[in-house]
Amino acid sequence: MGCFFMSKNKRERGHASLLGKNEDVFRCPLCFSPMKLVHVKSLICKNHHCYDLSRQGYVNMLPHGLQTKYHRRMFEARRMISRKGFFEPLMAKISELILDQSKFQEGRIKILDAGCGEGSLLSGIQKKITQNSALDPLGVGLDISKEGIYMAAKEYTSSLWCVGDLAKAPLASEQFHFILNVLTPANYAEFGRMLVPHGRVVKVLPEKNHLWELRDIFYEQAHKQRDSNRNTMDIFKNKFKLLDLERLRYRVTSDEPWMESLIQMTPLSWGTTEERRFKALEMDLREVTIDLTILVGGN
Ligand SMILES: [Zn+2]
Repeated sequence: MGCFFMSKNKRERGHASLLGKNEDVFRCPLCFSPMKLVHVKSLICKNHHCYDLSRQGYVNMLPHGLQTKYHRRMFEARRMISRKGFFEPLMAKISELILDQSKFQEGRIKILDAGCGEGSLLSGIQKKITQNSALDPLGVGLDISKEGIYMAAKEYTSSLWCVGDLAKAPLASEQFHFILNVLTPANYAEFGRMLVPHGRVVKVLPEKNHLWELRDIFYEQAHKQRDSNRNTMDIFKNKFKLLDLERLRYRVTSDEPWMESLIQMTPLSWGTTEERRFKALEMDLREVTIDLTILVGGN
C-alpha cells in the first residue's frame, strides 16, 4: 500500500490536525493494533498497515474495495433533502436525547454515526449539542461508501470521517458515549465493543407510515411491508437494555417539487418498476410523512 500524496489545502490540514489529536479513535482493520498519524498524512499501525488521509480529509480504511449500491447521486439527493429541513425534527430529537442522557457528563463526548452517508445528520446533531450545552462533542462518521464519506469530509470539517466496514470497524474499543444508527443496518456486536460502559445506542427505524406517499405510488400493497420492525426490536432488546422508545411523526412541506430527490434518496424506489418511478416523477408531490421510532439502548 502506498503512502504518498501531493498537495495540502486548508481543509486537509484542518482534518489532519483533528485527526492528529484523535488518532486513538482508530484501530487497524487488519490486525486491530492502535494507529499513529505520521507525516500528517497517513495512519500506520505497528505492523506497517498504512491508510492515507485523502485530499478531502477522510481516511479510507476499507482493506479491499467493497462494492455498495449506494451511489453518489443518492447521497447528493439526500443532502439536498436534508438542506430543505427534512431531517430537522429528527436531528433536534436525537440531540435532545443525547443531552438528556449526558446530564452528568462533562467536557468531551464522543459520538459515532454508524452508516453516516454524506454526513449532514451527524454534523447537524453535533452543531445542536455544541449550541445547547457546555459539552464538547467529537463526531466520528463511518460509512462503507466512499462517495458518501467523500461528500461528508468535503463539507464538514469539525468531524472525523472514515470509509470502513462496520462488520470490522476500524475504530478502537470502549470509546463512544453514543452510537447513532439511523435508517441503516446495524452491527450490534461491534456497537457493544465500541461503547464505553454506560454508553448508549440510538437506533432509528422507519415506521409503517414513513414516506407512505411514495409507497402508495411504488407499491400497490402499500402498508403491508413493515412488520419486520418487531424482529428488529427483539434483536435490539436482546443485545441492549431498552432505556427509551419514542415515536417521531411529522410532515414536511415544500414549495418546490422534490420528488426526484426523494426518489433518488430512498431505497424504497429500488424495488419498483420504471413505470411507477416515472409516474412518481410526474406527480407534483409537496408534502410527505415522516414516521420513525427511536430506540435508546444501554449496555
Ligand atoms: Zn495493522
